[in-house]
Amino acid sequence: MSTAETFDRVARTDRTFERRGALWVGKCLICNGPIAFDARTGEGATLEHIRARSRGGTEDPRNLALVHASCNHEKGRRWDPRRRRSAEDYDAFVARLLARRLDRWRDDPGPSPRR
Ligand SMILES: [Zn+2]
Repeated sequence: MSTAETFDRVARTDRTFERRGALWVGKCLICNGPIAFDARTGEGATLEHIRARSRGGTEDPRNLALVHASCNHEKGRRWDPRRRRSAEDYDAFVARLLARRLDRWRDDPGPSPRR
C-alpha cells in the first residue's frame, strides 16, 4: 500500500478526520491538536506506529495513527525505553494511545472519491 493509501485508510477510520477538498483535517493522536495533510501525498502528517514495529507493533490500522512530525519525534525521544523511560512507562503510554485510537474508531466507509 502506498503512503497516501495508508494515510487515507487511517483517516477514514478516525472520526476526528474529515475531508475538506484536497485535505484531510483532524486531530493528532498524540497531542490532540489540529492537523491537516494533503490527501494525495500525505504531506503535513506522519504515520505513527502506536506500538513500535521494533516492539512487536503491527500494520493493523488500529495500531496506526496520523500525528505531527514533532509529536512523532518527541514520542521516540521521550518514551523509548532504551533511553530514559522504563518499559512499564512505555507500555502505559502506548496503552493510552491505543485506547484513544479505539475511542476515535469508525468503520471504514470506503475510499475517498478521487478528485
Ligand atoms: Zn501532535
